[in-house]
Amino acid sequence: MDVAITETLAVTMADDRLGILEDATVAAEDGEIAFVGPSSAFDGDPDRTIDGSGRVTMPGLVNVHAHTDLTLLRGGAQDVPEIEWMNRALGPLSEALHPADRIAGARLGVLEALRSGVTTIGEYAGDVSRLVEEVYDPMGVRVVAAETINAVADDGTDGGPDDPYTFDPDRGWAALERNESLFDEYGDHDRVSCLYGPQALDMVPPELLEAIRDRASEHDRGIHMHVAQGDRERRQIEARYGDGETTVSVLEDLGLVCERLLAAHLHGATASERERLADAGVRMAANPSSIAAIDGVTPPIVEYRDHGGIAGLGTDQAPGSGGHDFLRELRTAALLAKTDRTDPTAFPAWTALRVATIDGARALGVADRVGSLEEGKRADVVVYDLDHPSTAPTVTDPLRTAVPNLVYGANTGLVEHVLVDGEVVVDGGEIRTADESAILEAANDRAATIFDRAADEWWAADSTLVDRVADGWL
Ligand SMILES: [Zn+2]
Repeated sequence: MDVAITETLAVTMADDRLGILEDATVAAEDGEIAFVGPSSAFDGDPDRTIDGSGRVTMPGLVNVHAHTDLTLLRGGAQDVPEIEWMNRALGPLSEALHPADRIAGARLGVLEALRSGVTTIGEYAGDVSRLVEEVYDPMGVRVVAAETINAVADDGTDGGPDDPYTFDPDRGWAALERNESLFDEYGDHDRVSCLYGPQALDMVPPELLEAIRDRASEHDRGIHMHVAQGDRERRQIEARYGDGETTVSVLEDLGLVCERLLAAHLHGATASERERLADAGVRMAANPSSIAAIDGVTPPIVEYRDHGGIAGLGTDQAPGSGGHDFLRELRTAALLAKTDRTDPTAFPAWTALRVATIDGARALGVADRVGSLEEGKRADVVVYDLDHPSTAPTVTDPLRTAVPNLVYGANTGLVEHVLVDGEVVVDGGEIRTADESAILEAANDRAATIFDRAADEWWAADSTLVDRVADGWL
């Protein structure tokens, strides 16, 4: 036995509730969970014992959808109209990123996620293999990687919101080949799995989507795609495919509405379309902070679950959601769901915790390995110390207040230990697999240069933020 967390309040997700065990021990051996049960029944002889008394021990959190390579642009694109966000607010900044900036941003984003108890991230990026190699692998964090497949030409969005983007098909096919080599390279990796990543229906030609569909089917692989992500996309789909066509209707015609599909967003679809997606086994990635910030709407995760669909949560990108603190995302998800439905019982704390763990793992297709504390699963475990000004006190009788306190009060400061594949990645609040101060220093240095490099294009794009600067607000 390598490590045991003893006398803890374990929230295992091993049944259809939270699987709570008081005075429990969770032990790992060879990267696997080897024991979960009452401390009194544990007779292992671990190399290391972590005192879990007064702590909550849970499966590591699963962030289903993130673009951590944009983290250095945090604060650069918020408080603008949705139609401006991608091309006029974020665009000039993201175009100024060099490959090394994306790596430095991903290190910061993954660090933030890890500090909130995340052990698996559904990463979505161009040249994602570099992030896997230089960020995820050395930092010891599990990743489900999708290569962004986008075929929009360099000047392809210049025509305005109602002209279909111009495609450069070669660019899309080259991205698909990068995606293929990802499967070849990481097919046997313990902590890396892969999905196809066609960015969105308005950004990929139908022939390329058909090829992805056929390859996914042939090799039994999943597809991670942004679907129905708002008015900008809706106008593009009508312009390209004709009046009355929607993202979902075209995806149905293309044969992509199926169990292989993990669909990010879905707020631009109708309720009946979402019901059809849920019935077809499409999984949803809801990104509440991001979509509130970019679109001013609440992702329909409650409705999707009501349809019987599987849904996980994601943080999307820092310029939007604000970052990758997954505990903060849980609170945001719960509160937005309540106000959206004017129903304080919507998306309760216990649902938030299941969605953040086992349901997220199901959404990413890795629930056979992670998402719950069960013997035989990989040992991805987080230990929270709730004895903190924002979460204390916690009691266990007559109700266990740790459950709501984790969702409504918790933040990155509560994470004491994180294990991924049985390795202790965060130990007593210290990151063991990366130099935290060096990551922060590089981020600060690089961000100043990036924003400076982007400045001319940023002014020229003339987004609402340009006026806000002129008005003296920013
Ligand atoms: Zn996204």
